[in-house]
Amino acid sequence: MSKKNHITGSHNNFFNCIEKNFNKAAQYLSVDKGLLDHIKSCNSIYKINFPIKIDNKIKVIEAYRVQHSHHKLPCKGGIRYSNTVSHNEIMNLAGLMTYKCAIMDVPFGGAKGGIKVDTQIISKEDIEKVTRRYVDELIKRNFIGPKIDVPAPDYGSGEREMNWILDTFVSLYPNNIDALACVTGKSVSQGGIEGRKESTGLGIFHGIKGLCEIKDEMRSVGLDVGIEGKKVIIQGLGNVGYYAANFLHKSGAIIIALAEREGAIYNEKGLNVSKVVSHLQATGSLLNFPNAKNIKNSEKALELECDILIPAALENVIHKNNANRIKAKIIGEAANGPITYEADEILEKKGIIIIPDIYLNSGGVIVSYFEWLKNLSHISYNKMEKKISKNMNVGLLKIIQAICSKNRIEKGQQTNFLKESKEIDLVRLGLKESMNKGFQEILEIKKSLKINNIRTSAFLLAINKIIHSYEKSDMFP
Ligand code: NAD
Repeated sequence: MSKKNHITGSHNNFFNCIEKNFNKAAQYLSVDKGLLDHIKSCNSIYKINFPIKIDNKIKVIEAYRVQHSHHKLPCKGGIRYSNTVSHNEIMNLAGLMTYKCAIMDVPFGGAKGGIKVDTQIISKEDIEKVTRRYVDELIKRNFIGPKIDVPAPDYGSGEREMNWILDTFVSLYPNNIDALACVTGKSVSQGGIEGRKESTGLGIFHGIKGLCEIKDEMRSVGLDVGIEGKKVIIQGLGNVGYYAANFLHKSGAIIIALAEREGAIYNEKGLNVSKVVSHLQATGSLLNFPNAKNIKNSEKALELECDILIPAALENVIHKNNANRIKAKIIGEAANGPITYEADEILEKKGIIIIPDIYLNSGGVIVSYFEWLKNLSHISYNKMEKKISKNMNVGLLKIIQAICSKNRIEKGQQTNFLKESKEIDLVRLGLKESMNKGFQEILEIKKSLKINNIRTSAFLLAINKIIHSYEKSDMFP
């Protein structure tokens, strides 16, 4: 497998995109410009350079933690491990987290971390050393803690890294009874929650399914209602891409192409996602999958004819130079920032429906919220007697109810849940309801203000909610 990351889009461009999208939405508001400037700006930025011995040589590692907004605490956001990490990229990703949490009524400020390492070439032991040292550095400056700033996985990181983060934090704060809540996305055995691993992909599935059920939207792009039979292409078969592909495949969508760093594979009749992953694990490459055509230039997969295109790797992959060649009817932004501002305008003119990242990939932070609450309330579902478990489930159901629309969880449904429910059922219900509610609110804004795209409507919803929280708190002196 190629060791190089082929996505080389400029991160400055990424900033401009978010700022422009924000400004486009803010035009619908008549509020103090200073307040909008405050919402857009990053509250705290911490850049660290620390030394690590790799292969007996000292290597300086560049890393970041950016807290975009303190309007709600703690701050929340993943940690990216990639050789393309930059100051600008992490600032933008932190901003997206603020808007995502606001849309979903998840009471966190946005944050993001980044460690500039190439996980393709450094050993597991060295990744562990880097991770633990990064946590030490965050602790020194008070940039991590259950009530301060709570990291989670992102590109290049997963449960393993979150477990190391927890272990490092706990070893330094052995008396902190809430220490488990210092990070989310941990293994279930380490205090994580069932369903977190697949949550971003499952949220993407719910978001796409929601759109596909709207007659008018489907008619506008000449498609039938429903997921079944839709031809889908996915770029990036990591955590997010894999689970999104899997849930779509299981619901009857036809995954016609999958793209990874080393190339893409294509089969018009559909690819079996689980079998592709087994092939990838066995051979180290997606290529040469039985009965599929190899596409050497991975980026070309984005330009194939399909109903739904899902970029699930990195930012800026659809830009002004390839946007005109995109033939998808719907694009679901599973990755953060995969479409540049210029490309967005070209795609909109072509009539392509875009489901934006700030809504579509929020499943991870929704379930991270459940995990954080579970850790703070010290609930352990699996060890509880049925009766206690029922009481605890009432608690979690109430929280889910509070972030979902009030009447959506019907009485009968509630009773069934409280009788039989397991942690995974509650998490899945909360995730589904949150995704549906968020989408409904975005569509209401789109309809009432006659906005012709989902992204502007989503930004507007987020900005409105943040303004509302400032108004309520009367925070400015
Ligand atoms: P991951 O590291 O698990 O997977 C990323 C995959 O993309 C890898 O398989 C990698 O090989 C592949 N990739 C890299 N360059 C590529 C290229 N040029 N062409 C095709 N594939 C390429 O990362 P992830 O957690 O799945 O994150 C993917 C995206 O989703 C990122 O933008 C991330 O910020 C976003 N996201 C992740 C989460 C989460 O919970 N993990 C939540 C919200 C958003």
